[in-house]
Amino acid sequence: MGKTILATGGAGFIGSHITLELLNSGYDVVVFDNLSNSSPKSIARVARISNGAPVFIKGDVRDAAALNALFASHEIDAVIHLAGLKAVGESVAHPQRYYDVNVAGSTTLFNAMLHHGVKHLVFSSSATVHGAPKTLPMRENDPTRPVSPYGSTKLMVEQILTDVSKVGAGWSSMILRYFNPVGAHPSGQIGEDPLGTPDNLFPFIAQVAAGRRECLQIFGTDYPTPDGTAIRDYIHVMDLARGHVKAIKHLLEQRQPVNTTEVVNLGTGKGASVAEVHRAWEQAIGADIPARNAPRRPGDAPHYCADTGKAKALLGWQARYTLAQMCQDHWRWQQINPEGYGT
Ligand code: NAD
Ligand code: UDP
Repeated sequence: MGKTILATGGAGFIGSHITLELLNSGYDVVVFDNLSNSSPKSIARVARISNGAPVFIKGDVRDAAALNALFASHEIDAVIHLAGLKAVGESVAHPQRYYDVNVAGSTTLFNAMLHHGVKHLVFSSSATVHGAPKTLPMRENDPTRPVSPYGSTKLMVEQILTDVSKVGAGWSSMILRYFNPVGAHPSGQIGEDPLGTPDNLFPFIAQVAAGRRECLQIFGTDYPTPDGTAIRDYIHVMDLARGHVKAIKHLLEQRQPVNTTEVVNLGTGKGASVAEVHRAWEQAIGADIPARNAPRRPGDAPHYCADTGKAKALLGWQARYTLAQMCQDHWRWQQINPEGYGT
């Protein structure tokens, strides 16, 4: 019998790509999402372009009764927990929302899993738990010093999960720390659909390229990097999705001892500066993209880049997509869906 994976937050940017990749790998998928930052159209599109259709249940991860009903009515073999809030700036303005959704939502989910004997979990964490890295590339066991409430919520859930995995309930879990997920499915049917003005570099450039915004601001040109602009490890969302399928297989095939959790970076190991990303986008669209220099964005680190050795050794996973493909796929999604999923 096929295995069934619950994807909380599975209607969102990353979750929709993971759902697609799971379906194409032969898993059944139940998506549980309150649609606070996503559209049901992403689920319909996934069904259109994949080998199957996920079951969709609208609900909130803080709702214990809804989760208990879900686990009682579906035989779930493993959970990928993506549901949460992710805007760093908003987390500074409204920290209580972030602790409530990200931390309380996670403990509510873990309680329901423990109650129903579901023992495998993959958790969406973030490289941001490190704060400003002291050494590069960043390794999983480097010090963690988050600089925003968002980063703190991710680190807290990592700690809770590590402790829960130890208690002898037979859990095996994996914490995946994403670097900078970008791009879109090569079909252009699913992608990132930010509400309002995008904070992140890729969706912002995409909207400038499309003429929806006037000019890219390059935040900081005096960083200690070769061209003075900040470096990030951008990873194609399809590589990220494939990494989750590898993680799920790893747990379901019991290649990891029970009562343990592992932390694994998902990045390419190759950083690109803002100026390099700007040029790569201009090449992808075959036109100039207006940009101007601006002051540093508060809280930004000069350089993030993953050490990818553990992902390769443990999961046999390596990123495949290039920066050029990330720009081309993101651009295709932007062109086909100028207003995202729309209303
Ligand atoms: P997203 O906002 O597109 O997806 C999150 C999904 O969770 C959305 O569909 C939203 O409707 C849902 N959700 C939010 N609160 C919920 C709640 N209380 N109950 C049920 N569903 C809820 O974001 P994404 O970029 O796809 O991120 C997915 C996960 O990956 C998040 O946990 C995020 O913190 C993490 N992550 C994202 C990035 C990134 O740059 N995109 C980087 C590192 C980690
Ligand atoms: N950035 C920029 N202009 C923008 C958005 C982002 O110069 O309009 C820079 C930002 O300062 C950072 C890099 O691009 O150095 C990546 O930013 P993003 O928000 O995408 O990722 P994060 O900083 O959260 O890793």
